[in-house]
Amino acid sequence: MKKLFATLATTTLVTMAAPAFAEQCLEVTLTGTQGGPPVFMGQAGAGTLVRFGDTENGCSDVLLQFDAGRGTTQQLSKARVPVGRLNAVFFTHIHSDHSEGLIDMAQLRWHFNSAGPKLDVVCSNDAKSPAGHILSCANFVGSIGDALISSGEMAQRLVENPKRLAGGPADLMNAVTFDPTNDPQVVWQKDDVTVSAVRSTHVPGHASYRVDTPAGSVVIGGDAGNDARKPPRATSTSDQVETLSKNADILVHSVIHPVMGPDGSTGFPPPIYFRQSTATDLGSLSDRAGVGHLMLTHLIPPMGAARQVPYPIDGGGLSKTDYVGAVREGGFSGGVTVGTDMATYRITK
Ligand SMILES: [Zn+2]
Repeated sequence: MKKLFATLATTTLVTMAAPAFAEQCLEVTLTGTQGGPPVFMGQAGAGTLVRFGDTENGCSDVLLQFDAGRGTTQQLSKARVPVGRLNAVFFTHIHSDHSEGLIDMAQLRWHFNSAGPKLDVVCSNDAKSPAGHILSCANFVGSIGDALISSGEMAQRLVENPKRLAGGPADLMNAVTFDPTNDPQVVWQKDDVTVSAVRSTHVPGHASYRVDTPAGSVVIGGDAGNDARKPPRATSTSDQVETLSKNADILVHSVIHPVMGPDGSTGFPPPIYFRQSTATDLGSLSDRAGVGHLMLTHLIPPMGAARQVPYPIDGGGLSKTDYVGAVREGGFSGGVTVGTDMATYRITK
């Protein structure tokens, strides 16, 4: 482990105190682990906070949020991260369960931080669905305050404080869009922290990300699944995410348990099952890619849920052991976090 000397204060007295060490750190917190739009026991919507810094500043040099589902603002407050301090938000896709938290975050940032800096919102370019409509992250970001503008709330807040940006929260957002590609491309950078992205299959425009820092690396897969949307295929996981995960210290990925599959008794719709990555296949991917630690999130079904609305789970609900067991079946022997809200994993160097 590489240790970094912190600056030692010069004093006139010679003390025998041990020199202060600061280690560089990468910390990953699952801000929300709910899988999909349902609610269960107050779980927050999908999201992952990635922070890099050193142990003296609580890993707080760079603060990045990946997806921002329901309740993300409150979850960030538990992690002592004001939305005004986030450097960037990244979206894997703009399904509401991954994105609706931005509305609240943007409003709060506009309310107290209109002087800036703007918040980078990184996501894919407009993507056309085979059904004909356009999935547009840029439109989502550009109209983030529209309901509040329509209601007169923005005008009221501007009267209360004219220093706020006149156009509302959208004026404080800086959309950074890109065309997701099979090979990793750098989409955001600050100092020693680099974020790369790949195309991955879920809905049009879905992307997966990798953060590389001097303390380590983390991949956020989102809801990625295999390009072949149903069997026969070698795996339910994304080949591009596997490439992105090569020797990553941490992989954060949405998961579905095999009990939801067509061989089980839940009656869960096969097309929805097949588009998610199974716990077993994520174990296999992690083993092949040399991942250090796997963090399962966006659990379908949630642990302890007697049903994935409206589909009943045999035995009244799955446990942590059920998820870890499915991962081990895939051949992964590294560390596993079965996601609960605010579960955190830190690595230092
Ligand atoms: Zn989702």
